Amino acid sequence: MRKRVLVLGGNFGGLTAALAVKHELEGDVDVTVVSKDDHFLFNPSLIWLPFGKRDRGDVTFPIGPTLDNHDIDFEHHAATGVDAEAKQVQLDDGRSLGYDYLVIATGYRNKTDVVPGFRENAVTITTLPEAERAGEQWKKFLDDPGDVVVAATQGAGCFGAAYEFLFNTSYQLKKAGLRDRVKLTYVTSEPFLGHFGIGGLPHGEQMLGMFLGKENIQSRINVGIEHVDEGALALGSGETLPFKYAMVVPPFLGQDFLLDSGLADEKGYVKVRDTYQTEKYDDVYAVGIAAAVDVPWTTPTPVGLPKTGFPTEAMAHVAAKNIASQVKGEVPSAEKAFGDIKAVCVMDAGNNGVIILADKMLPPRKHGVLIPGPQAHLMKLGFEKYFLWKMRHGYVTLP
Ligand SMILES: Cc1cc2nc3c(=O)[nH]c(=O)nc-3n(C[C@H](O)[C@H](O)[C@H](O)COP(=O)(O)OP(=O)(O)OC[C@H]3O[C@@H](n4cnc5c(N)ncnc54)[C@H](O)[C@@H]3O)c2cc1C
Repeated sequence: MRKRVLVLGGNFGGLTAALAVKHELEGDVDVTVVSKDDHFLFNPSLIWLPFGKRDRGDVTFPIGPTLDNHDIDFEHHAATGVDAEAKQVQLDDGRSLGYDYLVIATGYRNKTDVVPGFRENAVTITTLPEAERAGEQWKKFLDDPGDVVVAATQGAGCFGAAYEFLFNTSYQLKKAGLRDRVKLTYVTSEPFLGHFGIGGLPHGEQMLGMFLGKENIQSRINVGIEHVDEGALALGSGETLPFKYAMVVPPFLGQDFLLDSGLADEKGYVKVRDTYQTEKYDDVYAVGIAAAVDVPWTTPTPVGLPKTGFPTEAMAHVAAKNIASQVKGEVPSAEKAFGDIKAVCVMDAGNNGVIILADKMLPPRKHGVLIPGPQAHLMKLGFEKYFLWKMRHGYVTLP
């Protein structure tokens, strides 16, 4: 009997895990992907949507044909529950699917109640519909400009996106001839500029400080947000920042349906070992943002961890290798703790940027470097095209 692998989620983690397990076992396994969305989304490009540099069609592709080409079944449904004892997953149409091995790669949702007024009075770019809404608001802003605030709340982890949006905003304001008329402010829970939720990198604080100075961007560091009112952001420090446009990055949470599964912590993140098997079940894995990773420090204002695309893919490959070992009757031995995965990221700044490289996601590190310059912007453009091509064709063994 061929073993059945069920993968929940069809984005960075899920698509990679499904294709990689098929590859590891040279096709000799039944794989099914269950995903709420029937499209792959290249989330890193969401920073460009509000400015009309990309639209939905540029940053997504349908996953059905990709899975079909690799002999993987696709269920376009949301999972609503997991019974790990019975090895069953419930779907939103009332059916249950059984499995021999399960990979949970259901990613994140926004913690929308992090700050009162966040949903009503600010925009965000962390999901496709919200990035589109941020674009509609940006068009209105251009007709009636004023101060702009870009913020990452207490507990947020996706700081890279906040910085990218900040510098892209500055660039777009210049292009629109508005830069001199608009006060642009960055508000962050990071303890220092360039912390990025990963403890910072050598010279990062100075470099980010220099960039902000050069772009005439004000900053409020190590501060939480109390509430967002119509046209004003109230900070934990007591200060109020008026705005005509505010983009706020909230913290992420795991998916609701995992909360009662006995697999997840109180945020809905699944607790895993370094093999990406869950703490309790050898046959259940979790990868990407769905996997719980402890924040290894306490900061005066709480910050989260950025679980980016590169570690998500790395986790999915580790899980696929281990499932293949288990199917072959071997002990799953691939391991890579989140903190030990390389940090590889490009931060775009409109026509410029910074390449971020480190030997480990989390300190202590041996090497970490930030390489600024226009080549970073070109690299991000090239990487977007390359990554969408790679995933659309299912070439997950490519870097
Ligand atoms: C604005 C922004 C910018 C970013 N920029 C970068 C960057 O420059 N570089 C970088 O490396 N990373 C970046 N990231 C992070 C990167 O997007 C994540 O690492 C990646 O999306 C994680 O993939 P994932 O598969 O774990 O989760 P997700 O991308 O969240 O995918 C989850 C999948 O699960 C599905 N799903 C959800 N609930 C269910 C359910 N109940 N049942 C079935 N399916 C479900 C969803 O439909 C989706 O297909 C950025 C993220 C954001 C938001």
